[in-house]
Amino acid sequence: MSDLLERLRGRGWRLTAQRRVVAEVLNGDHVHYTADEVHAKAAELLPEISRATVYNTLGELVSLGEIMEVSTDGRAKRYDPNAHHAHQHLVCSQCGTIRDVHPTGDLLAVLPAEERFGFQVAAVEVTYRGMCPNCSAA
Ligand SMILES: [Zn+2]
Ligand SMILES: [Zn+2]
Repeated sequence: MSDLLERLRGRGWRLTAQRRVVAEVLNGDHVHYTADEVHAKAAELLPEISRATVYNTLGELVSLGEIMEVSTDGRAKRYDPNAHHAHQHLVCSQCGTIRDVHPTGDLLAVLPAEERFGFQVAAVEVTYRGMCPNCSAA
């Protein structure tokens, strides 16, 4: 559980009604919504919430380090509340379902020294692609 709301309360982030619905929409596991999806879901809870407020709140949460921007298809930027636990993504090439996954082993270590070009390598992002059970059953 990403318990984003709990973390935000813990750090004393001022929870207005609008910020709260954005945080509620992003609370949970395997959550990777585009800004438009966050806005649509937030508007179900608080119809008057504006797109600008949603975008501003997302930007603020990213700069606080409480959500991450991810892009698994190279196009839409998605927002991921699982920002405190290193994880990688498993993506269905058919329907776009995204799962947080935790490969075993040290992904940094698999890059050989001669492929590092003198970089101090600090992070790695891996996207596993394939077909989810729903799509492969169809
Ligand atoms: Zn699928
Ligand atoms: Zn994720």
